[in-house]
Amino acid sequence: MSVLVVLEQQGGKWHRMSWETLAAGQQFAAAMGETVEAAIAGQGVGSLAAEAATKKVAKVYAVEHELLKDYTADAYTAAIEGLIRKVNPTLVLFPHTYQVRDFAPKLATRFQQVLVSDVISARFESGTPVFVRLLFQGKLNGDVRVSGSGPYFASVQAGAYRADSLEAGSGAAETFVPSLDASAIRQKPEAPFRESARAVDLTAAEIIVSVGRGIKEKENIPMGAELAASRPICDAGWLPMERQVGSSGQTVAPKVYMAVGISGAIQHLVGMKGAKTIVAINKDANAPIFEVADYGIVGDLFEVVPALVEEVKKAKG
Ligand SMILES: Cc1cc2nc3c(=O)[nH]c(=O)nc-3n(C[C@H](O)[C@H](O)[C@H](O)COP(=O)(O)OP(=O)(O)OC[C@H]3O[C@@H](n4cnc5c(N)ncnc54)[C@H](O)[C@@H]3O)c2cc1C
Repeated sequence: MSVLVVLEQQGGKWHRMSWETLAAGQQFAAAMGETVEAAIAGQGVGSLAAEAATKKVAKVYAVEHELLKDYTADAYTAAIEGLIRKVNPTLVLFPHTYQVRDFAPKLATRFQQVLVSDVISARFESGTPVFVRLLFQGKLNGDVRVSGSGPYFASVQAGAYRADSLEAGSGAAETFVPSLDASAIRQKPEAPFRESARAVDLTAAEIIVSVGRGIKEKENIPMGAELAASRPICDAGWLPMERQVGSSGQTVAPKVYMAVGISGAIQHLVGMKGAKTIVAINKDANAPIFEVADYGIVGDLFEVVPALVEEVKKAKG
């Protein structure tokens, strides 16, 4: 019995959520007392499979076929269905990407199951998973209990698990050639959807200062740090779109994330809650950002930020 993690690539490059989903898979498998296996579908994905096999996985399947070169829902569904029937996993885990949203529900129905989507955590009761997902725009956490004997299907929310918690190991890489029929593929691939511009790669930054509507006007945006922002700031054109953090922006996991005048809406939190240390400055003590902050400063940012800058200068001598 295993947890099968279906990784994602586009044009031979990993989707950034693949590793965090594999990390989730490792943790779920440990809790269930099962092994982790992984799969990567496409054409010429052998080297990606070999790379994934350097993590703690029992086996990585390179699901290889010329009809998988460009993504289509019909080909991916049929290919992964074939693999699941061969491997017979207890749980199939996906990153909650646009592609997965497109084909994984249909795949789950082939096994008379549903896809439990966008989960933020899971616990296991007598080996059966209970998934936790957000409801009503993040106001409530709901438990989703699956019934039957599986395979169960779930997708993991961006930022819910940390890629740097992935355990290394040495698994075997194996090629799986699904039986696909070109005439059964009804879609014609077009240019892939771009999740967000990558002119600025915030994912590599160690310290990010992120500003929200609390900064009041464009002139108050600080200079010098690696800057990010909540959506209203980018919508207003005060910072370019590629600096937006959140569900429709980038997912970041720096050592320090400083949230200045950001309320902490769920769409923002999913993009930054993986940061090692979160510092929040907000004049509203009840702002949801404080629920994820390691250090919270309740106060007017126009007083707090200059005082902090002064202290940092003193400390640096
Ligand atoms: C489909 C969808 C996708 C979305 N995607 C994203 C996304 O990717 N990223 C994102 O960020 N949002 C996203 N949003 C928007 C999100 O719901 C929030 O509206 C947004 O994050 C709020 O931004 P904010 O915190 O800057 O502003 P606000 O919610 O207005 O918060 C401003 C905060 O500043 C504080 N403040 C005000 N003045 C001061 C002061 N002088 N000193 C200290 N604090 C002060 C206030 O107390 C308040 O908490 C999305 C929404 C939808 C519906």
